[in-house]
Amino acid sequence: MQLNTVFILLGTNLGNREANLRDAITKITELCIHKPIKSSVYETLPIGFDSDLKFLNQVISIVTSLDPFELLEKLLEIELLLGRERQGKGYSSRTIDLDIVYFNSDIIQSETLTVPHPRLHLRRFTMVPMVEIAPDFIHPVLGLSQTRILSQLEDKNEVRNYDITDHPKD
Ligand code: ADP
Ligand code: MG
Repeated sequence: MQLNTVFILLGTNLGNREANLRDAITKITELCIHKPIKSSVYETLPIGFDSDLKFLNQVISIVTSLDPFELLEKLLEIELLLGRERQGKGYSSRTIDLDIVYFNSDIIQSETLTVPHPRLHLRRFTMVPMVEIAPDFIHPVLGLSQTRILSQLEDKNEVRNYDITDHPKD
C-alpha cells in the first residue's frame, strides 16, 4: 500500500466557521492513516472578491493511501456535505473550500487537478500555516522551501492568528 503525505488548505467564510473547520477535519480524518497534523487557525480578508466576511484558513498534513483523484473526489464530497454551494465562476463566499496544496512531491496537471496548487504558493494565507507545520518542505516545481517562498512573497495581506478561545460563540 502506498502512503501519501498531503497538505490540504481549508478555507471558510460562511456560517459557523470554526465548526466548518472542525467538521471538515473530522471527515478528512476518516480518509487518513494517522491523525492529521494541524496548523493554527488564521483569519484573513477575502481576496479577489468583495465581501465583509473574513476567512478562517488552516493547513493540515495527512497521510492517506488514496490516490490524488480519489482524494479530490472525497474532498469535493465533504465540501457538499458541509453545505457548500458553488456560485458560478470565480471566487465567492463559501462554507468550506478544501484545496490540495501538495501531494507528496508529485506534479500533476490534468483538467480536474493541478498539484502543486497553481496559486496557493502566492498567498500569505497558505504560506504562513505551511511554514508553521512544514518550513523545510520543498515546493516540487519551484525548488524552494516554504520558508523561502514566504520570505519572497509579494502578497502583503494580513494573516492574523485566530485564537479559538477568544471567540466562544463564533
Ligand atoms: P477555488 O478553490 O479555486 O476557489 P473551487 O473550490 O470551486 O475553486 O474548485 C474548482 C475545481 O478546482 C475543483 O472541482 C477541482 O476539480 C479543481 N482543482 C484543480 N486543482 C485543484 C487542487 N489542487 N485542489 C482542489 N481542487 C482543484
Ligand atoms: Mg477549491
